[in-house]
Amino acid sequence: MKIALFGPPGAGKGTQARYIVERYGIPQISTGDLLRAQLREGTELGMMARGYMDRGALVPNEVVIGMMRERISEEDCGEGFILDGFPRDISQAEALSNLMDLDAVVNIVVDESALIRRITGRRMCKCGMTYHIEFDPPAKEDTCDRCGGLLYQRGDDREETVRNRLEVYRSQTESLVEYYRKKGILKDIDGNRSIDEISRDVMRALSILEVGK
Ligand code: ADP
Ligand code: ADP
Ligand code: ZN
Repeated sequence: MKIALFGPPGAGKGTQARYIVERYGIPQISTGDLLRAQLREGTELGMMARGYMDRGALVPNEVVIGMMRERISEEDCGEGFILDGFPRDISQAEALSNLMDLDAVVNIVVDESALIRRITGRRMCKCGMTYHIEFDPPAKEDTCDRCGGLLYQRGDDREETVRNRLEVYRSQTESLVEYYRKKGILKDIDGNRSIDEISRDVMRALSILEVGK
């Protein structure tokens, strides 16, 4: 099953991807996570991406599309994958469609006021887990439930950058909703609810798809 999770920054794509990974055993591919890993490792790609990420702009397509193309050709993607944060503009969507067809695009729809609270309260662990200080806190403050690691805030999750990222979403990414709706594979999910309620809806949308296979 080839799925993309779609929605503005902070909609809950990464959070929902985790449940899909558990249920379907296919890998989550987050371009944001891949880029942050390159940054941590200090690779040339990472150095180049840093400035864009710090200001909340999109990293150039030459870099992101190549990185994705490599990732989805790896062996663990044989049964499918969940894209999280890709595609983010029309050229990325076209590049992807030249490689393969997606089975579904799950569009998580969330009010803008909620997005800012979600992002500014987000805390990350280097193992890939994500928490929220208010809505999804770890059992022990600042400590990851899964690996015991120290939680941190992403540099681009501060309010000034968040506004920029939302603007980039509106101007460059949001039009993909209509692009995928026209292809007939878009599933809108009301994301203004609890993590569990959303997850139930996402699973329902995906299981309908499975039956059709
Ligand atoms: P969010 O949680 O806001 O959806 P991500 O972790 O997906 O954030 O992305 C963080 C940053 O990484 C983006 O602001 C952008 O600079 C860069 N990035 C991630 N995915 C892409 C992509 N598909 N194309 C270009 N830049 C990307
Ligand atoms: P995205 O990957 O779309 O940027 P995340 O999955 O990282 O979004 O979620 C953003 C923040 O909001 C995280 O701190 C997460 O714990 C929290 N969150 C996710 N889904 C919900 C929800 N339904 N209600 C409240 N908070 C949520
Ligand atoms: Zn952890």
